[in-house]
Amino acid sequence: QVQNEKESMFLVSKYAADWFHGQLKTDEGKAIGYSYFKERGFTDETIDYFQLGYNPDQWSAFTDAAIKAGYQLEFLNKTGVSIVKEDKKFDRFKGRVMFPIRSLSGRVLGFGGRILNNEKKAAKYLNSPQSEIYDKSNVLYGIYEAKQAIAKEDLCYLVEGYTDVIQLHQAGVKNVVSSSGTALTSQQIRLIQRLTKNITVLYDGDAAGMRAAIRGTDLILETGMNVRVCTFPDGEDPDSFAKSHTESEIVDFLTNNARDFISFKSNLLKEEAAGDPIKKADMIRDIVNSIAKIPDDISREIYVRESAAILDIGEDVLFSTLAQVRNSGL
Ligand code: ATP
Ligand code: MN
Ligand code: MN
Ligand code: MN
Repeated sequence: QVQNEKESMFLVSKYAADWFHGQLKTDEGKAIGYSYFKERGFTDETIDYFQLGYNPDQWSAFTDAAIKAGYQLEFLNKTGVSIVKEDKKFDRFKGRVMFPIRSLSGRVLGFGGRILNNEKKAAKYLNSPQSEIYDKSNVLYGIYEAKQAIAKEDLCYLVEGYTDVIQLHQAGVKNVVSSSGTALTSQQIRLIQRLTKNITVLYDGDAAGMRAAIRGTDLILETGMNVRVCTFPDGEDPDSFAKSHTESEIVDFLTNNARDFISFKSNLLKEEAAGDPIKKADMIRDIVNSIAKIPDDISREIYVRESAAILDIGEDVLFSTLAQVRNSGL
C-alpha cells in the first residue's frame, strides 16, 4: 500500500517535470520562463539537460492539466505540486521557473521554484514540502547529473544554489552538487561519500556563505572525508563567476584558491582575532575542536602542525589541547 502510494507520487512528479518543461514552448512560458533562463545565460542544451521548466502564472493551470491527464488530486497534493484546500485547488509553484530535483538514480523527487519578480514579498525560492518521496535533508541537487563526473574526477564541488550547479556544469565543471539552501546534513555527505572522499566547498562570497561553509566543513571532517574550501569574492557566487569567465579561468581559480580546511579556518579566525589575546585563545580552542573531529590519527597530526604554523603558536600547546578535547568525551 505504502509502496503504491510512493509509486503514484513518483509518477506525479515525473509528469509534473515533463509538463513544466513543456511549458517553455507555450506563449506564456516562452515569453517568461524560457527568456528568464536565456537571460541567465543558459543554453537550450542546458535547459533540456536539467529539464528546467515553468509553472504558468494562473491559479491552477498545472493542476487542471494533471487531473485531465488522469492523475489523482490526492497524489498531486501529497507531492506538494498542488495545494488542496477544502474544495479549492491551486498550483503551489504558480508563476515560478522550475528546477526538478532528482535522486541519485534520476527519479524526480521534488522541485525548487524560483520567483521571477524579485520585488514580490514571497520567498525567492520555494521548495517542495517534505513528503514520502522528498526529504530535503537527504537530497542533493545535481547528484544525478554529476555522479559520473564526481567519480571520474574523484572530487565533488559543493555549492549553495541551483543556478551555481547549472552554470558550472555548462562551463564544463560537471562534478558539482548543491545542498540547495538547507544547512548541509550528514545524510547529504553520505550520498557524496559513495562516489568520492574529496569535497571542495564553494560557497557564496558573502557573510552567510562563509558561515555556512564553516558549519558544513566541520560536519564533513567528522565523516573522515577530505574537505577543502574555496571562497569567491564578496558579492560573487559560483554562478556569477562561471558566467563571466572561461572554462580555463574557472578551473584555474578553483585550483589556485581551494585551500585545505584548517588553513582556511585558521587564516579566517586569525584575521578576526588579530591583537586580541582572549579571542585568540577562543580561536585556538575552536580550531582544535574541529581537528578533534577528524577520525584519522595521522591527518589530525598533520593538521595540528599546519595550524600551529599559521597561528604562530607551539605545536605542543595544540597537541595537549587536542588531547584534552578528545579525552573529554567525544
Ligand atoms: P539566484 O542566483 O537565482 O538569485 P542563488 O542560488 O544565488 O539564487 P542564494 O540567495 O545565494 O540564491 O541562496 C542559495 C540557495 O538557497 C538557493 O539556490 C536556494 O536553494 C536557497 N534559497 C535562497 N533563498 C531561499 C528562500 N527564500 N527560501 C528557500 N530557499 C532559499
Ligand atoms: Mn548567497
Ligand atoms: Mn548565491
Ligand atoms: Mn546566484
